This record gives sequence, C-alpha cells and structure tokens, in this order.
Amino acid sequence: MADILVKSESGALIIDGKAASAAVLADVAKGAAELIAAGIKPGLAVVLVGEDPASQVYVKSKGKAAETCGFHSVQHTLSADTSQADLIALVHKLNADPAIHGILVQLPLPKHIDSQLVLETISPSKDVDGFHPVNAGLLAIGDRKRALVPCTPAGSLILLQKAMESLGRSIAGCDAVVVGRSNIVGKPMAQLLLSENATVTIAHSRTKDLASVVKRADIVVAAVGIPEMVKGDWIKPGAVVIDVGINRVAGEGLNAKGEPRTKLVGDVDFAGAAKLAAAITPVPGGVGPMTICMLMANTLTAARRTKG
Ligand code: NAD
Repeated sequence: MADILVKSESGALIIDGKAASAAVLADVAKGAAELIAAGIKPGLAVVLVGEDPASQVYVKSKGKAAETCGFHSVQHTLSADTSQADLIALVHKLNADPAIHGILVQLPLPKHIDSQLVLETISPSKDVDGFHPVNAGLLAIGDRKRALVPCTPAGSLILLQKAMESLGRSIAGCDAVVVGRSNIVGKPMAQLLLSENATVTIAHSRTKDLASVVKRADIVVAAVGIPEMVKGDWIKPGAVVIDVGINRVAGEGLNAKGEPRTKLVGDVDFAGAAKLAAAITPVPGGVGPMTICMLMANTLTAARRTKG
C-alpha cells in the first residue's frame, strides 16, 4: 500500500482513508481477476427496502465498487411495504444462489420488519456485513480466519496498523480505548484490537469520567455518533486517534440554492486532537471510505472460501 500518511501543520500525521481505500480496492480487483481466471466470479447481492435517500446513495456506491472490482453485482430494490416474509424469502433465494457469494441487506429496514431476524437468515458464509451471530461469535473467540469481520472496524484496523507501522510502533501491549459499544462498530473493533494484543477498554454512555479514561489511551477509537464529543485535551500526547463518527452539523453561510450550509464532522474535535495526537483520521476522508472497500474484500474472501 502506498504511503497513506500526510504530515499536518500541527505535526500529527493525517491518515488518508481515501488513498488506503483505493489501494484495498486495487488489491481486491487483482484478487477477483485471479479468481475469475480460476472459474469463480465473485458475486455480491445488495438488497434495499424502501426509499431512504441515504441508503439509496450507499447502495449505489456499493454496486459501483463491486463493478469496479469486476464482480457480478445485483441489486434488489423492494418497496417500503414489502412484507417480512417476502424479504426473508428473497434472502433464502440468494443463500441458495451459487452465483452470489455475498449478501448485504441495507439497514435501516422499515419498522414493520425485524432487522435482526433478517440478518440471521443470511447464510453466515455469505454475510459480508459480518453481523450474523456466527460471525460475531467467531470474531469473539479470536477466529478471524473463519469469520467475516464487520467492514467499518476491519477498515479502521487497517488505518491504525498503517499509522502504527509508520510510527515504528506495535499495537501489541498498547492501551486502547474504544468509545462506543455498538454491535456493528464498537464491540467488533474492541475484539479486533484484543486479537492484536492491545489492552482494551470499551467506554460507553454510562462510563464515569470518560475524559480520564480516554487520556490514558495510546490508541483511541471513537464510535459514538455525537459531534466532536471527544475533546482535544482528552488525548494523551502521541496517541493514535481513529474517528469513526460521521455527523452532519450546521456549516457557515448559505449554499448556491440559498439553503444553510452543512458539513460533516467526526466524534472527535479534530483541530484540538491533532495538536496532541501522533496520527489521526480526518472526517470526512478517514474511516468513511474504508467501509465499502472492506465490503468488497469480504465478498472476495467469501467467494475464495467456496473453493476452499
Ligand atoms: P450507535 O448509536 O449504535 O452506538 C453508539 C455508542 O456510543 C453506544 O454504544 C453508546 O453507549 C455510546 N455512547 C453514546 N453516548 C455516549 C457518551 N455520551 N459517552 C460515551 N459513549 C456514548 O452508533 P454506531 O452505529 O456504532 O455509530 C457510531 C458512529 O459511527 C456514528 O457517528 C455513525 O455515523 C458512525 N459510523 C460510521 C461508519 C463509517 O462507514 N465510517 C459506519 C458505521 C457507523
């Protein structure tokens, strides 16, 4: 992978997720070409229920990335009033389809559908989001070789590894604090850090004195969903900071349409943290771009596994 770290004015290294993601996508495309030559074309099916605009954008980007990687890519768009039974029937059909190696049901699903039930219907071997309890369990017992790991934490780990490598440090033995304990980011991130031999603390909404918990961390991963909640002066000098948060907040002035501008910020006060951190991911352009490329990497892994 090309160098993905850029020195900032404050002295911190800025971890370029766009460059890292492009490198992963290029590797996946290469791996897919080899697998196609061996007779298997990786296939990804994305299922979208309803018309949520953000979900439509995500699904479109996922389809585009799949095509860039040379995959067989299909999208199933179902109306918002699709019944749970019909959605589950579609998942069963995709489970049985040998041309499909990865199935992704875009979340959130409409309220009348039990998301967990749908996710648990996906065959664990095709669960490229890594949300099935079998994959969560494999990750929890440290069996990353058999698990499909959730994309955002997997991508965050790559950025962290690159930063640590560049700083000449090892993750092993570091104090790592993950702020947030969701099943899709916080918990799997903590498991990944543990499997890299970090000493891991998971902080959450009931954690007492979060500032001092974060202050002792060599590695901070923020996955909370509260704009700039982790303050700059909570960061231990020289720590590496991975900001998973993506929050849209009010910007300055009006856009071309005369509407108030908005901007994206992370869960970390970037300007303050960059003064103390050795390396930090920006928002946007940090962890965000990694999620889709890790989805492609998981689809390639799932396809490779069908050949043993
Ligand atoms: P979530 O709402 O499921 O979980 C948030 C977690 O933060 C919870 O575990 C909660 O305990 C914790 N929390 C809430 N308030 C807190 C507080 N005051 N102090 C400490 N902890 C607190 O969110 P999520 O799905 O894990 O997402 C977290 C963030 O990551 C969001 O900003 C989301 O947009 C972003 N995200 C980004 C990507 C990506 O592709 N980069 C993917 C998924 C999520």
